[in-house]
Amino acid sequence: MSKDLYIILGVPGSGKTTQAFHLAQYLKLDNLSWGTIYRNPSLAEKYPKEFKTIKSKKASDKDRSYAISNIIEKEVEQLSETSNGFIIDGYPRRLTEAKRLIRITKKGNYNIRGIIIINPSLETSHKRLKERLICKRCGNYYSEENPPLPGGFCKDDSQKLNKAYISPETLKDEFYIYRKEIAQSIRYLQKYTDVCFDVSGDDDETIIFSNILLKLRDRKQRDSKIFSRRSKAKLETKFGVFDLIAYQSEIDYSYHLALVKGDVKRGNGILIRIHSSCVTGDIFASERCDCGDQLHNSLKLIHENRKGVLIYLFQEGRGINIINKVKAYELQRKGLDTVEANERIGFPAEMREYSMVKDILDDLHIKSIKLMTNNPDKIYKLTDLGIIVEESVSIEVQPGKHNKKYLYTKRAKMKHKLCLV
Ligand SMILES: [Zn+2]
Ligand SMILES: [Zn+2]
Repeated sequence: MSKDLYIILGVPGSGKTTQAFHLAQYLKLDNLSWGTIYRNPSLAEKYPKEFKTIKSKKASDKDRSYAISNIIEKEVEQLSETSNGFIIDGYPRRLTEAKRLIRITKKGNYNIRGIIIINPSLETSHKRLKERLICKRCGNYYSEENPPLPGGFCKDDSQKLNKAYISPETLKDEFYIYRKEIAQSIRYLQKYTDVCFDVSGDDDETIIFSNILLKLRDRKQRDSKIFSRRSKAKLETKFGVFDLIAYQSEIDYSYHLALVKGDVKRGNGILIRIHSSCVTGDIFASERCDCGDQLHNSLKLIHENRKGVLIYLFQEGRGINIINKVKAYELQRKGLDTVEANERIGFPAEMREYSMVKDILDDLHIKSIKLMTNNPDKIYKLTDLGIIVEESVSIEVQPGKHNKKYLYTKRAKMKHKLCLV
C-alpha cells in the first residue's frame, strides 16, 4: 500500500509550519518541517556534516541543497513503519530538491496527495516574522497564535526566547526569490499530482486551515474530468485558420469550444484567452460592452503569435444566463451599473466559474499559460483549479460612447486593470 504525502509551501512568514502541523493532526500523518529541523540544535548534532555545509557562507546553493536533501531523506527513512504518510513543509524549495523528493517518494512508496501553497502579502509576512520568538536551544518558535510560557520562555526547555529580527528589505528580496524558486519546483511536482492549489495567507490561522480542508475535499470530488473532446474541424476565419474543437460535459450536455492555433502540446506559457459568451456583444455587436472587440482582438493576437488557444465558454452574462442578462440591461438603462443591476435581480456580480478550463487545457496537454485578461478574479479562480498562470497580458480596447460606464464599473468595482477608461 502506498503512503500519503502532502507538500505545503509558502514564503517565510506564511504560516506554513503551523498549517502543516494542523493538517498532520487532522489527517493523522507525521509532520516534517524543514524550518523546525533547521532550527533544532539536536538535529545539528545528528547531521554535523550537512549542517556545516548549510551554515557555511562559502557553500554553493547546490551544495546546500544537497545537504538539506540528505537530511530530509534520512528523516523520511526514520519515520515509523506504521505511519500512513507525512506532511512536509518548507521543502522542496529549489528544482533539484523537488527532483530529489520525487526519488525519495518512489523509494518509500509515497503518493503525492496534494501540493498546498500559502500566499500571504509581503505585509502579512513581515508582521508575522516580526512577532516571532525563537528558542535558540531547541528551535521552537512562538507567535501570537502559539504563545510561549509567561515571561517569554520555551515550553519544552524553559529557555529564554529571542526576538527574530528581519528587516523589510531583506524580507522583500527573500520573498521574491522564494516565489521564483518554488514556481519552478511546483511546475515539476505537478506532473506527479492533480491536486495543487493555493490559499490566501492573509487570513487568520483557523480560516486558512478551513480553506485548505475545503479545497482538499473539493478536489477529491472533482478528481475525474467532466468535459471531453467530441469533435474537431478546421475553421477559416477573418483572423486566420484555427482548429475548432468542441467539448461536451459528461453530466448535463453543456458544451464549450476551443479555437487552437499552432502546436500547443506540452507547451509552457501558451497564450490563452478565456472568453465567456456574450450574445449581444459577440454576435449583435452591441456597444454596451467590450466583449465583441475583446473576442476579435484575442483571435487576432493568437493568430499573430502563431500559437495559442481561445476557449469559448457558453456562460452568458457572467454566468447569470440570457434571461437575467436582458433584465439587468433594462435596469442599467434606468441608471444602475452592471454590478448593481446583477445584485438587484439577486445575483452576485460575478458568477462565472472555470473548472471546464482545466479539462480543456488537460485535453490539449498544456502545462502552463499566459493569460490574456484584465480581470484578476479570473487569475485567482484558475490558480485555484491548479492551472499555472505564468503571466497575464492586458487586452484593453478603446472605450466607446456606450460602454464607458460599463468599463469604468469594471475597473472601479471589479478591480479590472484598465487604463484607457
Ligand atoms: Zn526550547
Ligand atoms: Zn458583452
